[in-house]
Amino acid sequence: MNKNVMSEFKRLHYELWNWLSEDPLREIDCWPEWEEVNKKYGRITNCCFACAVFCKCSRCPLSKEMGGIHKCNLFYLFEGLKRILYVKLHQNFDEDDQSTILITKDYIDNLKTEVKLLALQIRDCWK
Ligand SMILES: [Zn+2]
Repeated sequence: MNKNVMSEFKRLHYELWNWLSEDPLREIDCWPEWEEVNKKYGRITNCCFACAVFCKCSRCPLSKEMGGIHKCNLFYLFEGLKRILYVKLHQNFDEDDQSTILITKDYIDNLKTEVKLLALQIRDCWK
């Protein structure tokens, strides 16, 4: 891959994950730059710019950095944690469900912090 494209992808990786870290409820698909990126480079597999650079999702170096083994798991790691956040957020507002008593604002805030920290960790794992 061309060196300019590689550094561009590195920058885009940073921008994407930085954007996600700013608000734990943001969706990866809603990143405002996707339209431009897709027009220029086509669809980015796994929403991972490192996969796109190294053309080997099966051995994505960033995924490996984050504990993945077989294929790029940055997206799934992040979405998995966010799914927990959404479920807990929903439970928090379900006043009829007795099991929600244990879900406190602190608990939700901690989950939001975890999502944010994970996004920052993924942002910074490509140096
Ligand atoms: Zn990847």
